[in-house]
Amino acid sequence: MGTVLVTGATGFIASHLILRLLADGHEVRGTARSAAKAGQLNRVLSDYAGHDVNIPIIEADLSSDAGWQEAVNGVDYVQHVASPFPATVPKSADELIVPARDGALRVLKASKQAGVKRVVMTSSMAAIAYGWGDSRPEVLTEEHWSNPDNLKDNTAYARSKTIAEQAAWAYVEEEGEGLELSVINPVAVLGPAMSADVSSSLELITQPMARKLPAYPKLSFGVIDVRDVAEAHVCAMTLPEAAGERFLLGERMLQFEEIGEILQRAYPDRKLPKGTLPNWVVKLAAFFNPPLKQVIPELGRERAFSNDKLKRVLGITPIPAENAIRESAASLVRLGVV
Ligand code: NDP
Repeated sequence: MGTVLVTGATGFIASHLILRLLADGHEVRGTARSAAKAGQLNRVLSDYAGHDVNIPIIEADLSSDAGWQEAVNGVDYVQHVASPFPATVPKSADELIVPARDGALRVLKASKQAGVKRVVMTSSMAAIAYGWGDSRPEVLTEEHWSNPDNLKDNTAYARSKTIAEQAAWAYVEEEGEGLELSVINPVAVLGPAMSADVSSSLELITQPMARKLPAYPKLSFGVIDVRDVAEAHVCAMTLPEAAGERFLLGERMLQFEEIGEILQRAYPDRKLPKGTLPNWVVKLAAFFNPPLKQVIPELGRERAFSNDKLKRVLGITPIPAENAIRESAASLVRLGVV
């Protein structure tokens, strides 16, 4: 057991990770951009866990040096989860790239200084599957890297995740002096939300459930349950063989329309969208529905992946995507989001 810092403690993945670490007996502290969020976060965690949770929160922003050294001092492991993940396209890609990359470097430098044993960083499938254009491998694995310089077949978010992860590996290799790094690369993360302030990935559920779409854009998504993502972060922190490795996390691919059908079966009394939308309609609709703009490069594309390493090295058999979808929706209904 050890002391673990979780950055971006208020987030969807981080909240599940914190409870998972506490359940294993670790001492946990978190960072948030505003320490004023500590009370609310501990209430949310306590409600979900069904017992009192009270972790300390240190204020630290990825865009500033303040707070990071204090946050990591005395810590054995760092779970670096924080990164900008907006539901809409930013005006400039640098709004995401700069905090993602510089923030990761701040966390790694402070960790080295404090003698942290291992940093686990939450990267993304976005750092594997983008910028390939026509040369994308049929099945993507941890061996593959997105090309952040190919602006076609890319998004500002995908570029930010790729550049940040590349910078992290380069730092550890060149200046880490024994600091260990392990990286988690999830596809779209679904599963139970703890608070109504939901992650962008849950748009996959809120868009159909709130009937923000007339029908489904021709999009396919890899899905992984947030509880598997939390579990993978813990395994990547503790397993000796996980040091220096990336792990692609995904259960399986689904068409957006299939996600809608699962939701419709779970909520037969609701009238959810039906059928698919022509691509040109989606492009037009993105003017009025900003989250759609983000997925335009995805129309008609399938980024198939292998989850062999997740099962083989981390020993995780992922929760079926159907359960993750149903439990996302159930939590969002319970929280009054949809
Ligand atoms: P959330 O939006 O719920 O969490 C994002 C977290 O990052 C928040 O805690 C937020 O803090 C923090 N953050 C954002 N910008 C900054 C900043 N400038 N300084 C400090 N903290 C910041 O999203 P998720 O939990 O889904 O995402 C967590 C991580 O997982 C991210 O790195 C994301 O890229 C990655 N990921 C997510 C996937 C998904 O489908 N959900 C898939 C693949 C990867 P604050 O409360 O202050 O806003």
